[in-house]
Amino acid sequence: MARYTDPVCRLCRREGLKLFLKGDRCYTDKCAIERRNYAPGQHGQGRRRKASEYAMQLREKQRLKRMYGLLEKQFRKYFDMAERSREVTGPALLTLLESRLDNMVYRLGLARSRAEARQLVRHRHFMVNGKRVNIPSYLTRPGDEVTIVEKSRQKDVFKQSIEFAGRRGLPDWLEMDADKFTGKIVKLPERDDLAIPVNERLVVELYSK
Ligand code: SF4
Repeated sequence: MARYTDPVCRLCRREGLKLFLKGDRCYTDKCAIERRNYAPGQHGQGRRRKASEYAMQLREKQRLKRMYGLLEKQFRKYFDMAERSREVTGPALLTLLESRLDNMVYRLGLARSRAEARQLVRHRHFMVNGKRVNIPSYLTRPGDEVTIVEKSRQKDVFKQSIEFAGRRGLPDWLEMDADKFTGKIVKLPERDDLAIPVNERLVVELYSK
């Protein structure tokens, strides 16, 4: 599946918001948003025009999409799934994005960013309920257990991630047993569980035009 490979700090600067795409660096004063909080490019510091309704909707969609490291086609697929569900579309979209395996690995603190989580999943370092899964978009469910495969447990990347995760904290809807290298999804998050600075209602409006 295609993915974005250009410098990611530009994306945060474009959105004027920390999207936490680089792991440890995002929490230091080396973060590009701390240093240069204006849009990238030649006219980034130029006068800003008042945003139109469409521009605001587009920005919210781009923020959400970039936060989860998705391209338009994949993101749209999640929107269509959310729209078909019985839940309210906006919160259902967030729950779907959160239930991706790469996101769960990141939330459990087994990777320092979603991009790193995605790569680790692709490289077959995880099992879900005892079976190896190497598909980052695999949708997890409540009760699922995500485990680092035995051979990979001593890798530096996991030691560093688990140490870093201590500073980030574990969401209420997940449990982690670091001794067993296993995380459990207690429930899928609802809107109130997620501190995501995005107005998903504007995304729904954009796609409903
Ligand atoms: Fe965004 Fe992290 Fe880069 Fe800061 S360091 S601009 S939060 S990706």
